[in-house]
Amino acid sequence: MDQAKIVQNFGRNLSFKPLHIYSPINKDELIDILEEHKSGKIRVVASKHSWSALIETKDVLIDMSHFDYVKIQKNNLQTSVIVGAGCKVERLLKELNRKGLTIPSVGLIDQQTIAGATSTGTHGSGKHSLSHYIESVQLACFDESGDSTQIVNISEGEDLQAARCSLGCLGVVVELTLPCIPQYFIQEKSTFCETIEQVLVLEKKAPLQQFFLMPHSWKFFAQERLVAPNLGRRGFASIYRIYWFLVIDLGMHLVMKALVSILKSRRLVRIFFRSIVPSLVFSNWVVIDRSDRALVMKHELFRHLELEAFVVRSHVIEAASFVKDILQYADDDNHQLSDSTNEKIKKAQLTESLSSIKGRFTHHYPICFRRVLADDTLISMASGESEDWYAISFITYLEPRDEFFALATFLSNSMFELFEARIHWGKWFPQTSKQVNKLYPKIDTFRNVCSKYDPNGVFRNNFVEDKLDL
Ligand SMILES: Cc1cc2nc3c(=O)[nH]c(=O)nc-3n(C[C@H](O)[C@H](O)[C@H](O)COP(=O)(O)OP(=O)(O)OC[C@H]3O[C@@H](n4cnc5c(N)ncnc54)[C@H](O)[C@@H]3O)c2cc1C
Repeated sequence: MDQAKIVQNFGRNLSFKPLHIYSPINKDELIDILEEHKSGKIRVVASKHSWSALIETKDVLIDMSHFDYVKIQKNNLQTSVIVGAGCKVERLLKELNRKGLTIPSVGLIDQQTIAGATSTGTHGSGKHSLSHYIESVQLACFDESGDSTQIVNISEGEDLQAARCSLGCLGVVVELTLPCIPQYFIQEKSTFCETIEQVLVLEKKAPLQQFFLMPHSWKFFAQERLVAPNLGRRGFASIYRIYWFLVIDLGMHLVMKALVSILKSRRLVRIFFRSIVPSLVFSNWVVIDRSDRALVMKHELFRHLELEAFVVRSHVIEAASFVKDILQYADDDNHQLSDSTNEKIKKAQLTESLSSIKGRFTHHYPICFRRVLADDTLISMASGESEDWYAISFITYLEPRDEFFALATFLSNSMFELFEARIHWGKWFPQTSKQVNKLYPKIDTFRNVCSKYDPNGVFRNNFVEDKLDL
């Protein structure tokens, strides 16, 4: 057992001191910990990248970082990989690449653990979330009486759908199995567009694309991405990677942080986005790179906080125009909302809460849109048999964060009322259990599966009890 110490998440919006912190080295040790604390409260911690209070506990915290193995297995023509829960995505991608393989989906960074990423439905663009692809989950949990600990393999039915994205509520994930696909290459090109309609047209030939609404110029910037023929790196890919790291990951973020945190100048933020940022992007550079390099960036270099709202495709155009109007209103006292936004606000009875954000916050980061295909899970943000989803992200580098929290709460509530938006479980999470109950049709099934593997609610904390009505 480690000395109990203060645990803080990546965003530093969450800190707490558990009574016990354990880092088991094998399954026997893990089972002993569960036995010893079966009348207590247990949560699991991974890379601590979540902004919601998922990892918080006053009692027992388990860190699975010793479970970081990668075992590739071949069954007939299918190749899959068994990954230890605490293995970072980065290590998994490296090991697979040595064999010419990769996983079907990755997020924007590779520093999360595989169990942490899948427990909250972590996603990239143009594919399902990582959770969707999980073939089986090995779980340390309790039996139906709640008296005995057990290790079970879950590989079908509603139990698997629940275990694919479980917010840590079923038990401790020991390892999980994912399908492998052959390593592939991505062609990428950056394009500026005036309207979201133009960006969505690009998606037809670039299905893996992600795009950004640029604050203050209010133009769209698309990273058109498609799978390229397997002919190796092209278009000076290594120079492109160095450029991207120095100019975007480091340079743009450093300047933006200086404007927001040191100079605290809302005017300079607007000038920066209108005049400087567009010149940082080379529009005609077509580059081809390996998927595990092309799809990730070093977004974890500077501490920030994020809200991410998922809307279905049929709402995305309206949602983008609503978001633009609200961010302009939050920035500028004199901004006149469009008739359509005014009508929506009235319909959602949000006039009063809207006035409280007027002119208080200048948004200072590109608003990222990523398409996520519907997931076969019970409660991931893209769960359910529906249209594609678009995840729309709002990031702040400003501290203190009160003004952002006010704006983000307004966006979350209004986008729930107007577009039935779901908020990412691993990001800042202002939604209420009432909203969650309306948004997730299979939430009851999820609750039943939780009770099956954890009848006494040992693996719950205040956050999941409150948000999931557990
Ligand atoms: C810089 C940055 C970039 C990000 N980019 C993306 C992105 O591109 N796409 C996206 O969707 N999200 C993104 N996120 C959010 C992030 O992927 C999720 O918050 C993810 O859950 C974090 O994984 P983690 O390993 O840090 O887990 P933690 O935050 O430590 O834990 C997350 C959840 O997983 C549970 N958990 C972890 N391990 C286990 C286990 N072994 N058994 C049971 N439960 C477990 C925890 O209890 C908790 O409920 C980003 C976050 C940051 C900070």
